[in-house]
Amino acid sequence: MDIRFMHPADQIVTIMNRLYYYGMTTTTGGNLSIKDSDGHVWISPSGVDKGNLRRDDIIEILPDGTIKGIHKPSVEYPFHLHIYQVRPDLHAVLHAHPPALVAFSVVRKIPDTSIYPDAHILCGSIGMAKYALPGSEKLGQYIADAFKEGYHAVMLENHGVVIGADDLFSAFMKFEALDYCAQLEINACTIGTPQGIPLEKIEYYHQKVMPRPDAFVLKECSSEERALRRDMCNLISRAYDNRLFTSDQGTFSCRLSNGDFVITPHAQDRKYLTSEDLVHIKNGMAEMGKLPSRAYAIHAEIYRRNPDIKTIINAHPPHIMAFAVTHNDFDARLIPESYIALRKIKRFSIEDSHLYPEKIAQAISLQSPVAMVENDCVITAGTSPLNAFDRLEVMEYSAKSVIEAMRLKQSIVPISEGEVDEIETAFHLK
Ligand SMILES: [Zn+2]
Repeated sequence: MDIRFMHPADQIVTIMNRLYYYGMTTTTGGNLSIKDSDGHVWISPSGVDKGNLRRDDIIEILPDGTIKGIHKPSVEYPFHLHIYQVRPDLHAVLHAHPPALVAFSVVRKIPDTSIYPDAHILCGSIGMAKYALPGSEKLGQYIADAFKEGYHAVMLENHGVVIGADDLFSAFMKFEALDYCAQLEINACTIGTPQGIPLEKIEYYHQKVMPRPDAFVLKECSSEERALRRDMCNLISRAYDNRLFTSDQGTFSCRLSNGDFVITPHAQDRKYLTSEDLVHIKNGMAEMGKLPSRAYAIHAEIYRRNPDIKTIINAHPPHIMAFAVTHNDFDARLIPESYIALRKIKRFSIEDSHLYPEKIAQAISLQSPVAMVENDCVITAGTSPLNAFDRLEVMEYSAKSVIEAMRLKQSIVPISEGEVDEIETAFHLK
């Protein structure tokens, strides 16, 4: 589903629902607007329950200032209009106060997106606007001044964040990525010191474009493939709901019995993926008219080396990634279940993932089914979609447990080598 073709009022309702039901705004906080091709600004209303917003609740502001609608516009509408005045390239503005970004806003610090390069590429440099009373002319001026400098994301002191973009879904993706970075940096600071990637390296990796695979025409789709695509879509949607994937990040592939595999598409909203969006890969070629996730080549290599691996997932959930961005190993000897699912986790540099992906592919097997790539992702492999998905969940939840244990300010007692030996014998892991 591409919301960009919806009416502006419907887009605002859809994105506001997504903000509210994923814990990124409260019933009264946050506001969204769209400037349409006629210069009319559509904006969320003031004082209406964000959990129950309908199309008719959205307010339209005409270019001459006339306000049309059954409610008052958001009290923050002056700053939305200010931004559109100084930045004619922007057609959507998103403002919200999610807890992690408010944490940065009250210590007046900008989240460091260099710890997760994909977010840096998406959000660009981030500005900061001085504190002023909500709804005031002064606040509008401070925010507009920051946007005048060319930013697409501006933090507000003791308030929250404002994102501007070409359309509302792009604004949401930038917002989600920045909020994710804020959560990640907070988690990372609990266990160590986050390590940023130098900006010139981020640019270098970004410009190193993967060659586009050759295409083939998929003539028929077997019942086995149809069932697999359906099961994959269910788990991808669950991964999004459980915050294991974000809108445009998270790769999921499954192998078919003939050795081909099916994988997520590149940069398509993970929340609404349907069976026909997934991409069939055959002998290194991709289904005609579709672009697979960038990780398709490394998945192909892992499948080639391991006939028993049926599913591979790349993801970057915010607790296990705290280890990946502080360059700390993750020890899975926490509870027997976490060790059984994860075993010894190998760690690779972001350079390996961009320049030597075969090194990572060589390290993954059913005896060593999980890997971590610094500042980039974690990879899990399994004998079925549910098996690899379970490993991803166990890894994220186990990392969360370690971070929570550190907040208890007590030392973690790992399961001993002798006890690990006993688990490996009992569960036939050797
Ligand atoms: Zn606000």
